[in-house]
Amino acid sequence: MGYFEHIAGKGHEQVVLCHDKTTGLRAVIAIHSTVLGPALGGCRMWPFETEEEAVEDALRLSRGMTYKNAAAGLNIGGGKAVIIGDSRKDKSEALFRAFGQYVESLGGRYITAEDVGTCVEDMEAIKMETSYVTGLSKEEGGAGDPSPYTALGVFEGIKASIRHKLQKDDLKGIKIAVQGCGHVAYYLCEYLHEAGAELIVTDIYQDKVDKIVNAFNATAVKPEDIYKVEADIFSPCALGSIINDETIPQMQFKIIAGAANNQLRDEEKHSSILVEKGILYAPDYIINAGGVVDVYFEAIHEYMESKVIKKVKEIYDTIAEVYTIAEKENITTSKAAERLAERRIEKIAGIHRRYIP
Ligand code: NAD
Repeated sequence: MGYFEHIAGKGHEQVVLCHDKTTGLRAVIAIHSTVLGPALGGCRMWPFETEEEAVEDALRLSRGMTYKNAAAGLNIGGGKAVIIGDSRKDKSEALFRAFGQYVESLGGRYITAEDVGTCVEDMEAIKMETSYVTGLSKEEGGAGDPSPYTALGVFEGIKASIRHKLQKDDLKGIKIAVQGCGHVAYYLCEYLHEAGAELIVTDIYQDKVDKIVNAFNATAVKPEDIYKVEADIFSPCALGSIINDETIPQMQFKIIAGAANNQLRDEEKHSSILVEKGILYAPDYIINAGGVVDVYFEAIHEYMESKVIKKVKEIYDTIAEVYTIAEKENITTSKAAERLAERRIEKIAGIHRRYIP
């Protein structure tokens, strides 16, 4: 298959290969869609074994950002960048500045941010060469850590899921098993505890578990036991691919709703198995969009926390809408999330045909 056929098949607009001789930079910037606005998505640094793998990852992740941003009701499109390299030993200020120059050369069609393997300091180096970067620290005029907003969105999504599945409007006595005790999980457990939920938590690091157990009266279990605990809700806040052939048979939950990205190992297969088991699944990129809402306001608008909170709280209605579409059209919630995003893009593409001077 030729390159153009390949990218057209996935609907991408533009793929840029970036090479800088002095720093050794090898990066791919993939712009999937700018129908809703400039393409926003993080920059991943990873030691890809082949160039094809790097391109494929940029294509897959940028398309995912289009869906996530569209479903969150944001006026931005989807893009993503990957830098080929080992984030533990190949980083330098010059490398990220060279990357920043390529971002700048796109004139705002792509806005970059942190992702796996990159951090706030790298964004600060990029910022020396371009203003099309977000996810900066508060000291640098950015919005800081987006985790509290991701947690708020997940909390809203959990409430919408409880309403839909259990016909309840409060969390009193609801048991929630939380996988991972990291940044998002900590803030999420705080909301859940305050709302009266009972928490069962796990992490591979004991100090992280202890922090949540002590602060929010949670019960701890071993990492391998989290899938089989008796709880109403499972909230994955650690890793991807944790909903799979090995874990689903262990689950007795009524709802799965958490922050982790790419929770289903096989999107189509495992979302269907969950339906058969009667487990309601809150699609990950809809429920965990609070963080991208935060960086969106940092990048595109004059940042105001009240506006971010208002937008993040809309995740309640979006999750509820996904469940309604799934029921009406007799499809999985994953498929319903896709349709919700595609319908918004189609509608806006319709009005963007006019040129307004
Ligand atoms: P984090 O690194 O702070 O927390 C993840 C935690 O999971 C860590 O404490 C880690 O020790 C733990 N963990 C790893 N393997 C585990 C295992 N096998 N069993 C139990 N615990 C394990 O990350 P975070 O920022 O809290 O993000 C959590 C998840 O949410 C990630 O999948 C991330 O991609 C996703 N996410 C985060 C944000 C955000 O704003 N931070 C936004 C969207 C999605």
